[in-house]
Amino acid sequence: MKKVVLAIILIITGAFFSGCNSNSLSFVPDIGDAAGTLTYTVSNWTDANNHYHAMLKFNHDMYIKLNQLQDQIRRAKSEKIAHTEIYYGNPNIRAVALTFDDGPHPWSTKKLLAVLKKYHVKATFFVVGKMCQQYPQLLKAIYDDGHLIANHTYNHKNLLRLTPAQIDEEWRMGNNTIRTVLGIKVDFCRPPGGNFDYIVTDSAKKKGLTTVLWTDDPGDYAQPGKEVIMDKFLDFLDTGGIILLHDGPQQTIDVLPEMIKEIRKRGYKFQTMDEMARDLK
Ligand SMILES: [Zn+2]
Repeated sequence: MKKVVLAIILIITGAFFSGCNSNSLSFVPDIGDAAGTLTYTVSNWTDANNHYHAMLKFNHDMYIKLNQLQDQIRRAKSEKIAHTEIYYGNPNIRAVALTFDDGPHPWSTKKLLAVLKKYHVKATFFVVGKMCQQYPQLLKAIYDDGHLIANHTYNHKNLLRLTPAQIDEEWRMGNNTIRTVLGIKVDFCRPPGGNFDYIVTDSAKKKGLTTVLWTDDPGDYAQPGKEVIMDKFLDFLDTGGIILLHDGPQQTIDVLPEMIKEIRKRGYKFQTMDEMARDLK
């Protein structure tokens, strides 16, 4: 009896180990129903084990493929950002960009420049072509103070309401006006009101312009009061932030010193849009 039990144990053990290594279970059916069940269990376990490894390999392959895909998307995105649109700066560089739209204005540009000079901040001015034509000395004053000049179209119209040819013309005339006054080529632009679609950005790209949007809109244009502007500004203040402000409202000039101090206090440096774009590459 003891010999029979030992034989069964040996057969079972053999079956078990052979199941781990290969699918050789040919001797098992000789021991009857119990062994039949065992055969089924072991081969099932072996299949499950193989399946598990197959799944692991599949998951691993998928993981690699997914990573490669994500990498491609990231690269495509950064190329797109570098050449067509910029929504924010490099999230790993603790910097923000102050941007001023709609100038130059005879009653605000110089005051704005005085504040920026006092705090040693360089900003980006998205200027309107017809204003530049009207106030070329103010455009020169912005440029001479070392700020970056960018194109905010010629007429400051909603580009989504214009034909493609009219959109081309807005960018072209904006570029030309700045070139006539300052003799420089402009690299960045912003559509009025942030109204754009791919026709607008494609048109800008054809004129050598990268479209710049923003991350932080404190709503200074509506002049809701210094506190409201500060609150909104702080809500969205973040690394790589592009802060939308305007050359025109008195409250922008009033709130600017506090804004600059707060930006510095939180450890951000200031960048112009060309510096920010360079850091995106
Ligand atoms: Zn504007």
